[in-house]
Amino acid sequence: MYAFTYERPTSLDDALKVLQSGGQALAGGQTMLAAMKQRLMQPEKLIDLASITDLRGIKKEGQHIVIGSMTSHQDVSFNKDVIQSIPSLAHLASGIGDRQVRARGTLGGSVANNDPAACYPSAVLALNATIQTNQRTIAADAFFKGMYATALNEGELITSIRFPIPKRAAYAKFRQPASRFALVGVFVADTGTGVRVAITGAGNGVFRHAGLEAALTKNFSPKATEGITISSADLNSDIHASAVYRAHLIQIQTQRAVTQALG
Ligand SMILES: Cc1cc2nc3c(=O)[nH]c(=O)nc-3n(C[C@H](O)[C@H](O)[C@H](O)COP(=O)(O)OP(=O)(O)OC[C@H]3O[C@@H](n4cnc5c(N)ncnc54)[C@H](O)[C@@H]3O)c2cc1C
Repeated sequence: MYAFTYERPTSLDDALKVLQSGGQALAGGQTMLAAMKQRLMQPEKLIDLASITDLRGIKKEGQHIVIGSMTSHQDVSFNKDVIQSIPSLAHLASGIGDRQVRARGTLGGSVANNDPAACYPSAVLALNATIQTNQRTIAADAFFKGMYATALNEGELITSIRFPIPKRAAYAKFRQPASRFALVGVFVADTGTGVRVAITGAGNGVFRHAGLEAALTKNFSPKATEGITISSADLNSDIHASAVYRAHLIQIQTQRAVTQALG
């Protein structure tokens, strides 16, 4: 490690003031601390958001679930409103990493970080959620910009994420067994007006698949995906899986997600 200053404000206003003077937000540290140890990130000023209670918590507002950015994965997985209204989101949160990661890692940190194999970005995109920041509201379709890139400006903080309650939805993750991130994860959401399919782990960042969405909107069944070609052209190839294997997994995991969503 190297020298840096550490501040722990108790209000969003105070956090924003320090952020504007060149600080970097710290949520649960599950990505940041490892990145700092490896000197991939070298912030001079850390602003720990942990004491800002307004950023934590889960509310049901009409046909939406609103989750504060500092809410841990564990709290999402055990929350009764999430379990009742969007069980697929609780299921996704319960499958992230291990107990320590779920206890410390946060929704806002995961979505802001936009790891190309992270689980939450697929839920945010498939459920057509909106990201609330201290400056504006950003639609999921406009938020994710590829590997570790998002629409957030420098010094902009996610305060909460608003998830519309779908008719039915499910997340099927094929785990990379060492890291527990998604080798391929598929989130399928039947919104009531159409089906959205978001894929993580397979490419440069989370993405939707138009062919799968059209087929499932017409016929919400695992069989409907059989004739859909999944191109491997832009998919990742690494020591864990080839692009062709990942393309195959997209189809299989989509079928598994649809089967789960049908109950
Ligand atoms: C061993 C291990 C296994 C994991 N497995 C999985 C997995 O299976 N699936 C999965 O999805 N994830 C997984 N993760 C990631 C985990 O889910 C964390 O949520 C993720 O690492 C982000 O951590 P954090 O919330 O503590 O944010 P931090 O590490 O504190 O911050 C991450 C980044 O987000 C920024 N940031 C944080 N909060 C905000 C905010 N409110 N607004 C704007 N920017 C913000 C920070 O400045 C930083 O750049 C794993 C992590 C580990 C260490």
